[in-house]
Amino acid sequence: MSEHHRIADFITQDVLEELSLPSNLNYGNAIFLSGGVQFIERGDLRCEAWVGGKLTELSSSLTQRRRTTLFIDVDERLAWRCTCNSKKSQIFCKHCVALSLALLEVPLNL
Ligand SMILES: [Zn+2]
Repeated sequence: MSEHHRIADFITQDVLEELSLPSNLNYGNAIFLSGGVQFIERGDLRCEAWVGGKLTELSSSLTQRRRTTLFIDVDERLAWRCTCNSKKSQIFCKHCVALSLALLEVPLNL
């Protein structure tokens, strides 16, 4: 595993726009801005957090807390898991967006 590949190195606004649907970018940004990302583990190669749960004015699907992980896979690429996804589809969901923004510590420029 190369030291040159950290999760934060993979995440830019351009990458997020490529990975995620516009609606999930908006929701993820809102979750991040509401302070809805609570880190469980914050490493260079693996980050895990509870995401969501602090929004009051948005829809209830956003207020449910999900456990979300971003990590570098064996091919040294960005990979992710979220408990809102089924096993078959691993979309880069709003929780993944929010966790990414929490790592960057800046909101999206939407
Ligand atoms: Zn999710």
